[in-house]
Amino acid sequence: MNNKPNFIISLDCEGKWGTIGLKEIQKNINSENLNFVYKKINNLLIKYEMPATFAFVMAFILSEEEAKKFECLSIEKKNQNNFYLKEFWKSKKQGNIEGWLEPKIFDEIIKNNNIEIASHGFTHFLCDDLANNLEVENEFRNSLKASSIKNLSLKTFIFPENKIGNLHILKKFNFIGYRNAYKLKYKGNSINRFKNFLDEFNIFQKLREENNKNISELIAIPSGFFFNSKFGLRSLVPGFITFERWKSLINDTIKKNKTLHLWFHPHNLISAPNSFSTLENIIKYVNDLRKLGKISVITQEQYVKEKVLFNFKDK
Ligand SMILES: [Zn+2]
Repeated sequence: MNNKPNFIISLDCEGKWGTIGLKEIQKNINSENLNFVYKKINNLLIKYEMPATFAFVMAFILSEEEAKKFECLSIEKKNQNNFYLKEFWKSKKQGNIEGWLEPKIFDEIIKNNNIEIASHGFTHFLCDDLANNLEVENEFRNSLKASSIKNLSLKTFIFPENKIGNLHILKKFNFIGYRNAYKLKYKGNSINRFKNFLDEFNIFQKLREENNKNISELIAIPSGFFFNSKFGLRSLVPGFITFERWKSLINDTIKKNKTLHLWFHPHNLISAPNSFSTLENIIKYVNDLRKLGKISVITQEQYVKEKVLFNFKDK
């Protein structure tokens, strides 16, 4: 039985699908940069034998040939309801599918046999309860089709933009869990955003109370914390502060015997190469504690299976 505190790493893998409208980020997103950064992250995980969950926008990992098997990617629909597909088609018609279809990234990641491949939707369409049900069903149906092309069995889900909903559809498509989302205390106006930003400097950061009640027999995986990658205002946070903050979180997790989740977008490391060494320092720190038997590193799927098996509460 796993009595140990847990550490989970998950990556929201989306290329251009998840960054529509973010011009500053998108200008650095091309095949070369993406392939480089994903390989670098994967090699880091392999070096320290760190399990991790790569949650892909499933269309992102398809080759052009494979994409032809999907109507929405091969025939442009008039009156498109899916804003993400609309943007995909804009680029496609300009002859540029870089960052939209990147099968080589998947071929690289799948070499690592210590990881879980999870889903982050098919086109990054928001699947919360406000969404058009038919489109949500399409997302899941297409994800399932993509997973069978790639010989995968998807078990856990990360909601696009962390907007959670439609859990019955998740269940219907045989998912067993999803990454929960922490409701930010301060959201909305710029003063509150600034307070959130100040949290990034908190080197005594402790775990937060989370409501991880299971709904519809699906396991809610603790949402944890976004790994600060130096972008915009966040670029003002020095790497050593970020490292100290994560050390404090890891130590608190061990003290309380809980689960800590670190998540980020690989593409954010393209424009913030210094974040990479901070990430390596965090991983090194966790690895040393793991060797001492103080913490386990697991995937989202392993977390769900252990939670069901051992029925631990609020861990
Ligand atoms: Zn996303």
